[in-house]
Amino acid sequence: MEKDSLKNLTKANNLAINHPLNSEIELSLFGPGYGECIVIHLGSGKWIIVDSCLNEESREPAALDYLKSIGINYKNDVQLIVATHWHDDHIRGLGKIINECTNAKLTLSMTQRKEEFLQLVGLYEQTKLIKKSGVNEFQSILRYLETNSKQPVWAIEGRTIFSDTIEDNYAVKIEAKSPSDKSITNAINLFAKAFPQKYDSQKIPSANPNHSSIVLSINIGNESILLGADLEETNDSATGWSIIVQSNSVSNKKAGVFKVPHHGSSNGDNPAVWKQMIVPAPLAILTPFVRGKKALPTQSDVTRILSHTNQAYITRRPAPGKIPYRKKDGVQKTILETTRYIRRVPLNSGQIRLRKNLATNDTWKIKLFGSAIQLERMETENENK
Ligand SMILES: [Zn+2]
Repeated sequence: MEKDSLKNLTKANNLAINHPLNSEIELSLFGPGYGECIVIHLGSGKWIIVDSCLNEESREPAALDYLKSIGINYKNDVQLIVATHWHDDHIRGLGKIINECTNAKLTLSMTQRKEEFLQLVGLYEQTKLIKKSGVNEFQSILRYLETNSKQPVWAIEGRTIFSDTIEDNYAVKIEAKSPSDKSITNAINLFAKAFPQKYDSQKIPSANPNHSSIVLSINIGNESILLGADLEETNDSATGWSIIVQSNSVSNKKAGVFKVPHHGSSNGDNPAVWKQMIVPAPLAILTPFVRGKKALPTQSDVTRILSHTNQAYITRRPAPGKIPYRKKDGVQKTILETTRYIRRVPLNSGQIRLRKNLATNDTWKIKLFGSAIQLERMETENENK
């Protein structure tokens, strides 16, 4: 056999192996350290993407790189794209995904429909804050929608944003659990307040988009998945996790898979969520946040999550602080002279992949790629240091 055709055959076999079956749900969580993206196969070749981050090596959206690698025609097969909130670590590369997956509907938080938000986006665009805030990417999404006369499906608490039937047998229902009415009002007020008297970028207070981020409940057949986005606990019964717990009916199916909110941070934690909305010892998955002063999750966050379940997985270790950068010593100088600049070593990307066959009703199969690690193992390793 020719070398090339052998290569192609191996490639085809790999694709067949890597590809989920039509009767399999697959959930992949990507988190390179800064950013989060969830890619889900609902079954029957139908996919959804929740948030976006970049593959640190290719600088392409992690979701598209992954779907391409397993031979998915994402142009047709991605049915829904959700931007849970407009923080940069959740929407990097989203503009490209929306442009490529032309068959998909787009869901945004209801707060972003409001004039106050759009005006604020316009204002941010004129200031230096634009590079940091994720508004840049958001602006390109809004332009795409306008140019192509597309209307997003706006998410608000209790709204079913997607429904379908898989394999002629299993009902799919994706419901937004947030933002609540009051979260929307609060966000609008904050947007309005955020307008500065003078055009001084230093004085623009930030309206916290986490409070209006979209929590999703995904039901496929008997399976239930809860994706916590970056929603925080506000200790106000009409917003945050409190209202989600309150309005949760006991008849609702408890989730077997939980994407832990806000990178495991304590401000996203509400113990009642674990008790009332999730099965005991669920599969818990999360991404870290390694920029900023304090990396997430902290050691106490890890301990807290492990008190709920030992089946917890993270896409990489939350290395605190900045990526180490070598001092300007002799070696550095030589490198600088020969290469002009040093490329920072890419963050080790990680993927947690969960699969479950609807037809055989087996347990979830967990596979970790790259830097992904079981949370319990990470903790034991820390103790041994
Ligand atoms: Zn985040």
